[in-house]
Amino acid sequence: MRVLAFTIDLDRDCNTAVRGETAAASRSCGVTTSPCHDASSQGMEAIADMLRSMAFPATIFAEGDSLRKLCDPSVLRGLEVACHGMEHEDLTGESTGLLLGDDQLEDIISRSWGTVLSVTGEVPRGFRAPYLNIDPRVLALVKGRGFTYDSSMTEKVLDGVLKPRLLPMGMWEFPLARDTDAEGKVIDSYLWAMHEGRRPESDYMRMIDRFQEGVLVMATHSWHVLEGVQAGPKSSGQTAGELDSIARILGHAEDSGFEMLSLSAAEDLLNEGR
Ligand SMILES: [Zn+2]
Repeated sequence: MRVLAFTIDLDRDCNTAVRGETAAASRSCGVTTSPCHDASSQGMEAIADMLRSMAFPATIFAEGDSLRKLCDPSVLRGLEVACHGMEHEDLTGESTGLLLGDDQLEDIISRSWGTVLSVTGEVPRGFRAPYLNIDPRVLALVKGRGFTYDSSMTEKVLDGVLKPRLLPMGMWEFPLARDTDAEGKVIDSYLWAMHEGRRPESDYMRMIDRFQEGVLVMATHSWHVLEGVQAGPKSSGQTAGELDSIARILGHAEDSGFEMLSLSAAEDLLNEGR
């Protein structure tokens, strides 16, 4: 299989972990504030409109709090909605220094699951840990809640190949991809560097060209087309330009023969033995 799965993390604007706090804050232009959701919500609507206009599938990893604050949840119609915690909690304690107990983790995972179910009417199948902080204990609890796949790890593309794999606890892992660019530097399939003005879209098209087999999971954040972590709010022209860049990257994959799928559709193919 040669699949591209586009994913969008719907979470608080420019989220950042706070030492000693479970919930994440927002941080833009070096200033930390209480959580903001405006850019996340507006960006989600804009990206969903773009995806619908091009008939591209996608998987939204929604933080429960941001999902509830979405201006119009109907914008997600037709897109897969999966889970990304409730308040962008650091589930392993790596970023906050807070080690949560199993009961606390189960509560967060369960409320995240229930929020997606109540907002969308669909049982979520997938999970992505906030900050991509995941470990075997968290994975076991995610599996225990009934999730069938995770997409929190980042793994190298080797000779053009990166395949999903079955984890020991029986869940599929769809890792984000790590490759090298034309100068031999590390490039991840998160579009973060493009939205921060540090990489052109052509770097990601090259990554697509080099990918030959497996599932290439690309990712962005809904707020990132409206706000940068370093530079702050973007102009409407910048936002339109970045939406166009995402559309051209996805269009490049489709033109290159990739099958464009949501992660749950890719999982269905794996379970059928493809
Ligand atoms: Zn996130």
